[in-house]
Amino acid sequence: MDEQAAKLEIIRTAREMLAKGLVQGTGGNFSVRCARGMIITPSGMGYGALTPDDLPVLSLDGRPLEGGRKPSVERELHAEIYRRRPDVKAVIHTHSVYATAAAALREPLPVLTDNQAVLFGGEIPCAEYAPIGTRKLAEHAALALGSGSGVLLANHGALCAGSSLAEAAAKCEMLEIFAQIYFLTALRGGGVKLKPEEIQIEAEDMSRRYGQR
Ligand SMILES: [Zn+2]
Repeated sequence: MDEQAAKLEIIRTAREMLAKGLVQGTGGNFSVRCARGMIITPSGMGYGALTPDDLPVLSLDGRPLEGGRKPSVERELHAEIYRRRPDVKAVIHTHSVYATAAAALREPLPVLTDNQAVLFGGEIPCAEYAPIGTRKLAEHAALALGSGSGVLLANHGALCAGSSLAEAAAKCEMLEIFAQIYFLTALRGGGVKLKPEEIQIEAEDMSRRYGQR
């Protein structure tokens, strides 16, 4: 995908997620890997009025390559994941309400549904706390994410990585739903968590059988 198409896809995805309440106001940030590095949403701008020219292009070591807008304060968070994970093509960070509430517990999100096992392969880890926009936050997040596709950021929010922006967005939406289910089951004593062997079977078997191939 060329950079212009990627910028348009970022804007469209951000607006869809805004409409679904998964990001609020100017919160959260979106990026896509490109040949030169990454394209990321600008700092502190509402998604409704964004145009492709507002989205800066940065090298993965943080050098601005194009675009006059200041990039998201969380650019290092995105860049660190691209540097460590060659398979990741898109990263989305949100402050969606239930995921952020789960992140405030500083615990992994347990596997209460087979869907979570299939989509995330198990618990969704929680990264150690670090202040917004810091190198430490980027390191903690990338470390906790490991080879997975979703991570909670302690007392802050959530992040999902994917092989496409659509995949990262779908994961953010599902992570929010799984966090919601977690709090609903907590009302009735916490529910029954899937056992490691059940998680493994769900994750391996369904990823082979599900969907159109
Ligand atoms: Zn944030």
